[in-house]
Amino acid sequence: MSEHSLFEDAIKQLDQAGELAKVDPEVLARLRHPKAIMQVSIPVRMDDGTLQVFEGYRVQHDSTRGPTKGGIRYHPDVSLDEVKALAFWMTCKCAVVDIPYGGAKGGIIVNPKDLSRMELEKLSRGFVDRMADFIGPDTDIPAPDVYTNAMIMGWMMNEYSNIQRKSTPAVITGKPIALGGSLGRDDATGRGAYYCIKELERKRKWEPTQITVAVQGFGNAGQHVARLLHADGYRIVAVSDSRGAIYREEGFDIPSLIKFKNESRQLKAVYCEGSVCELVESQNITNEALLELDVDLLIPAALENQITLDNAKDIKAQVIVEVANGPVSSDANKVLIEKHKLIVPDILANAGGVTVSYFEWVQNRAGFYWTVDEVHHRLQAIMSRSFGEVYDIMDEHLTDMRTAAYTLAIKRIGDAISAGGTRQYFNGDQK
Ligand code: GLU
Repeated sequence: MSEHSLFEDAIKQLDQAGELAKVDPEVLARLRHPKAIMQVSIPVRMDDGTLQVFEGYRVQHDSTRGPTKGGIRYHPDVSLDEVKALAFWMTCKCAVVDIPYGGAKGGIIVNPKDLSRMELEKLSRGFVDRMADFIGPDTDIPAPDVYTNAMIMGWMMNEYSNIQRKSTPAVITGKPIALGGSLGRDDATGRGAYYCIKELERKRKWEPTQITVAVQGFGNAGQHVARLLHADGYRIVAVSDSRGAIYREEGFDIPSLIKFKNESRQLKAVYCEGSVCELVESQNITNEALLELDVDLLIPAALENQITLDNAKDIKAQVIVEVANGPVSSDANKVLIEKHKLIVPDILANAGGVTVSYFEWVQNRAGFYWTVDEVHHRLQAIMSRSFGEVYDIMDEHLTDMRTAAYTLAIKRIGDAISAGGTRQYFNGDQK
């Protein structure tokens, strides 16, 4: 990432929308710089007795609209630049869906698949030990992200509570249900994207059985959006994980794929009846080839920078729903817009995760817990409303959906910054 900065690329999106939103340039100037950056080292005694020191980060991007919020990622490619970009997107995402948070993100440079469970627990507790003075229910609230899960959030909440000497469930979201997690948080990111697609279905008068879909990434977000779309009759013709992709023109039985993947950690073209799974005919293709398939709907649900100038011109799908954060580079975005693709941007399409995180935090603070139907109902209301608001701005300004989403976000952040009032004071308007 040294020659190509993901953060700089993300800021370009802000500048583009800044022109359209006609916001005070001071707002944009504020958003170009993260509020605070923490870098820590975490020594871990490994199972073989050796000591390994891991590097971790937490970036708090902006807290004007509320405490900062965002996940913690465990990945070998984590870098400070990446975490800054992800924190910036969280600020914008929370503003798009209008939940009372700013944005943050954390990350540790590690491949968690190489660690035993005990090593992973020590690393996670060690990270919280280092971060304990910077996070908290009213300051900065972490959550899961790529390669982190409910179990890790449980350890982190427990460690933070031990340090504070009081039970503090609202310090972190995405926890196990038994430790104060919310029903419906597990599939919230995929479900939020699904609600966006249902809005699109209404607008474009889609008949689901006629729509072909390719999903890149079969982790928490990708699996659930595929499952929900499949249940409605959409034809999911390709899916992939980090090792490669499978393609089948007739479409896959997604519940079988999920069952097999979660039991064996392998993505295989299977059809399962009860516990018996049989292979079905399919083609093995690469992740790159999956992106270029001639499908109606492409869902990148893996990592950032998957569609770049190198492959943008080869993308055939007419609609792209960004379930991953930052899957399309800003240069590639331009190419796709020129080709009249509709891109539902990450800061809207994957906001379901943080929205149910917000519900979890509200429930923790109230000490009163909701049913799963209540969570789904409220999530749908927020996603549908936000989708409609972004879509209307797009129509009104004859722009693309990403610029429209940023326009909405910086308008809301700008209103909050202006409400601070220092600028008016110097303008002579002291009322
Ligand atoms: N990591 C998720 C995201 O990128 C969820 C963040 C949260 O729940 O705070 O939106």
